[in-house]
Amino acid sequence: MTETRFDALIPDEEAAINYFFNIRFPDGLYCLKCGAKSRVYRYQNRPKICRCKNCDNTFSIFKDTIFEKSKSPIREWFRVMRRFINDMYGFTSMSLHRDQGMTKKAAWRRLMQFRIAMANEEEPEIFSGTVEADETFVGGKGQRYPKSRSTGLYLPKEKRKKGRGTDNTAVFGIKERDSRHVHAQVMPHESSVKGREKRLSGPQLEAMIDESCEKGITVMSDDYKGYIHLDKEERVQLWLLDDEEPPPRYKHHTVNHKAKRFTAGTTKDGEVIHTNGIEGFWSLLKGTFDTYRKTPDPKYMQRYIDEVCFRQNTLTIRGTQEEFDLLLKQCVLV
Ligand SMILES: [Zn+2]
Repeated sequence: MTETRFDALIPDEEAAINYFFNIRFPDGLYCLKCGAKSRVYRYQNRPKICRCKNCDNTFSIFKDTIFEKSKSPIREWFRVMRRFINDMYGFTSMSLHRDQGMTKKAAWRRLMQFRIAMANEEEPEIFSGTVEADETFVGGKGQRYPKSRSTGLYLPKEKRKKGRGTDNTAVFGIKERDSRHVHAQVMPHESSVKGREKRLSGPQLEAMIDESCEKGITVMSDDYKGYIHLDKEERVQLWLLDDEEPPPRYKHHTVNHKAKRFTAGTTKDGEVIHTNGIEGFWSLLKGTFDTYRKTPDPKYMQRYIDEVCFRQNTLTIRGTQEEFDLLLKQCVLV
């Protein structure tokens, strides 16, 4: 949404409150406590506040939203939100602090609230067709200029560790080819049987794919060994008859990235085997971190990833009123 359009649509605070009201209650006002639709009224002189005569309850239309505890005008929130979703790579809370004159902490918290809303999809999407799966590693203290443990000197570029084996945060992502939608998640360390901490283990990756994809679809990945069980038979086959062959869990194709190959021919259905789509998403992710000048704290990493996923998944409606309304809807947290 352009700034001109925003100003025309939401000229003042009252308009902002009414705009949100229409987004939250498209089918008419109901009580947030008992759900009653009749005998619920909005105060004329306090447009944020409603009263239900069934359960004798007074509530704000911003109850259970990211705006609930805020004392700032709601139109200010909307203005920042409009700007935040229009930018492909986001902007920093410092820029917001300088731009709007709010404290650094308030600016940071406001952007974090938007990220919470961005992750708050109504229903998580289940991917079908063909998906690309890949993992990447981001951040890590001193990653850009690591020192040698033995000599204490900066390591030359070719000796710096990359990927697995470093302390960087592991992120796993799946991209659906047709819709170009992405689901990405920080992968936590999990203790393995031998007591050593492990991450990106086969079961961990599989659980994530199971969670966000339909069974039996085509998965393309690199040749990392964590994926090798994807097309193996189910371990539990209780429901199968003795002579019945279990279907493969996923149709799995790999690209040998170590050999600097980035495509591996085509599948039987004529689809090119590659993972360039999800690789493109990683560059969007890293581009966003460049905006923030440093990789976010691992504690908040998932929030930033949620932001980039939202930007990717709303690519076709980028900068429209539809996108603004969608995020506004997601600001309701229950
Ligand atoms: Zn009620």
